[in-house]
Amino acid sequence: MANTTAVHGFELSPIVAGLWRIADWNLDVRQRVRWIEQALELGITSFDHADIYGGYRAEALFGEALKAAPGLRDRMQLVTKCGIRLRAAEKPYRINHYDSSAAYVRAQVEQSLRNLHAEQLDLVLIHRPDYLMDAAALADTFTTLTREGKVAHWGVSNHSSSQFALLHQHHPLVTNQLELSPLQMSALDDGTLDQAQQLRARPMIWSPLAGGRLFTSDDAQALRVRAEMSAVASRLGISLTTLAFAWVLRHPSRPHPITGSGRIESLREAMAALEVQLDAQDWYAIWVASKGHGVP
Ligand code: NAP
Repeated sequence: MANTTAVHGFELSPIVAGLWRIADWNLDVRQRVRWIEQALELGITSFDHADIYGGYRAEALFGEALKAAPGLRDRMQLVTKCGIRLRAAEKPYRINHYDSSAAYVRAQVEQSLRNLHAEQLDLVLIHRPDYLMDAAALADTFTTLTREGKVAHWGVSNHSSSQFALLHQHHPLVTNQLELSPLQMSALDDGTLDQAQQLRARPMIWSPLAGGRLFTSDDAQALRVRAEMSAVASRLGISLTTLAFAWVLRHPSRPHPITGSGRIESLREAMAALEVQLDAQDWYAIWVASKGHGVP
């Protein structure tokens, strides 16, 4: 196993801002600069991208803002992902598929650098596990791109614990970015969060509000969870968003939840969760509502 202390030099802000949906926010460059400044003022200094977000356009929207206000880059950590080949007008693949080859990872890293107008990416994640991944070859690619100064740290997303271990054996990984929310709890049981603690590699958490379904879905699980969370939130005097982030943050793997909202007020509510310490009964009440049964 790689020396796990090697991963400890890397820090993200406690809450990370996700840019998956930036193309939907319809902000002009000046508004994007202001949005970034407001996130930084809140203490959100890490920004999560992927090459494919917004139909391959999201990074460039953010990068335009960094170009317009060059002082911002040094105040933030840039995170991005690659490895998914998604069909698009200018990318007529026969099907969507994964690619962790040296040539593709290098090409996407270099494209992300151009899109973001950055000299270096602070963290690059392999977006999904590539079943055809050659772990030793991918580790060599990581090493080469790090030596060239293009990427400071590496990680993965949506990898099982054995997939993480395989790659981590060849190259230190600083995080596994996973889905976790009161509506999606698989990571509590599948071993990934246990491994994160074992290796002290803090996970990043995507869709902590279940992509908004926490507020909008009317399936039975969402109705139960919303009713329970509304009662807890009202007793604690906090919003549902703050409670959802506090619920994720309560996990001992010390996760970094990623916001997905375009509204600064929602980012403020996420940050408020850092001041909330849920007790175990409130945490389990939300677990019970999600599962639809009590603990065994
Ligand atoms: P999320 O926080 O679970 O969902 C954000 C969505 O919820 C937005 O559309 C937001 O709309 C909506 N929302 C927030 N508050 C709401 C409310 N009170 N009522 C109704 N809707 C509300 O996060 P996410 O965007 O799904 O994911 C967060 C980030 O994780 C992404 O940006 C991306 O960086 C990352 N991610 C990674 C992966 C991966 O495979 N690694 C997958 C998905 C996402 P408003 O903008 O209107 O607030």
